[in-house]
Amino acid sequence: MTNIIVQKEDPVLRAKAAPVAESEFGTPELKELTEKMSAALAAEFDGVALAAPQVGVSKQIFVVSKKIFEPKPLEEDLVFINPAIVGSSKTKVTLEEGCLSVRWLYGEVKRAEKVTLEARDLAGKKVRRHAGGLLAQIFQHEIDHLNGVLFTDKAKNLKEYKPDTNVNE
Ligand code: ZN
Repeated sequence: MTNIIVQKEDPVLRAKAAPVAESEFGTPELKELTEKMSAALAAEFDGVALAAPQVGVSKQIFVVSKKIFEPKPLEEDLVFINPAIVGSSKTKVTLEEGCLSVRWLYGEVKRAEKVTLEARDLAGKKVRRHAGGLLAQIFQHEIDHLNGVLFTDKAKNLKEYKPDTNVNE
């Protein structure tokens, strides 16, 4: 599969993504877009989540890989539309972070340890989710994408790690 994930030079990653309109919820087009995002994410061995601007679509959508819930993976990736962080813990943690659109840099980013996210699902239903650990980090990283922010804007001690190309499938 050709890699459709755009890289950091692309201006779409710097734009503020537009909200999904009421008329788009429940449509096959919206579902197709999230399926395309999930397919692009699944093609990356180290991918945990992907925002719509990363496939060149400036809309407020991100997907979280079902894989992160292993050993109890979900049936499908989680989809969050028009998301907002409505609560954050005062406790911050410094975490190692990377990005599928910023190959192959990694750095340390300070994030809230726990967050509460409100969003809509594909049908337009409101969802609210409390998260800690990796999921909380993902929520903050993906919301940044929807605001045109890349983790490298905030990261310290950036380093480049290229994977061993022999092991790539
Ligand atoms: Zn990213």
